[in-house]
Amino acid sequence: MEFARRGVMMVLASPSGAGKSSISRAIFEQDPNISLSVSVTTRARRQDEIDGTHYTFIDIPAFERMREEGELLESAQVHGNFYGTPRAHVEEKLARGRDILFDIDWQGTQQLLKRARADMVTIFILPPSIRELRKRLERRAQDSKETIAQRLHNARVEMEHWKEYDYVLVNEDLDQSCARVRSILAAARQRRDRFTQMDSFVKDLQSQIDSL
Ligand code: 5GP
Repeated sequence: MEFARRGVMMVLASPSGAGKSSISRAIFEQDPNISLSVSVTTRARRQDEIDGTHYTFIDIPAFERMREEGELLESAQVHGNFYGTPRAHVEEKLARGRDILFDIDWQGTQQLLKRARADMVTIFILPPSIRELRKRLERRAQDSKETIAQRLHNARVEMEHWKEYDYVLVNEDLDQSCARVRSILAAARQRRDRFTQMDSFVKDLQSQIDSL
């Protein structure tokens, strides 16, 4: 039996290089009911990124216009670039019971929590070690040495916020991390307050008892 429910807003946060993108990719492949909230950003596109799939790449005036016109649910400056979550489609997806994954930083998470706590579940992903984090950042090899250094510095700042999240996991093994994220998502989907028609289902069960 499937019951109508509101979608889950699942936030995955971590320092760059902790493996968040690999986890998200694996979740999407296995679960067609969850999709990525595609952010807008003023950062330059990396070679392997597709405009409109990973991000929508826009310039600073376009970003400022969206922010001023209330088209962004949240926004933040990260690593010197602007990022934001477009409002379009989010509410409509949630109402249809579609889950949305947000890959946003701690500032954006705080803003979303103020607006939509009941719809959200938040997870903080840590790297197993700084050696591993560095390796992952260098393997990308798309960012300059300065960018990597800045990202390591920002990792420290980002990690200060781990206690603001509902769940935490150390990403040592991709399969194990994905399994944990899926369990968290499964539990979040079953939250009582998400079900929109359960009340009438229970009343119906009770009236069946009454009429026995
Ligand atoms: P990257 O440039 O490596 O793709 O992302 C850098 C950081 O920006 C990551 O921590 C990512 O979670 C964060 N980020 C990406 N999109 C958004 C967004 O829409 N809002 C906020 N607040 N952070 C974002």
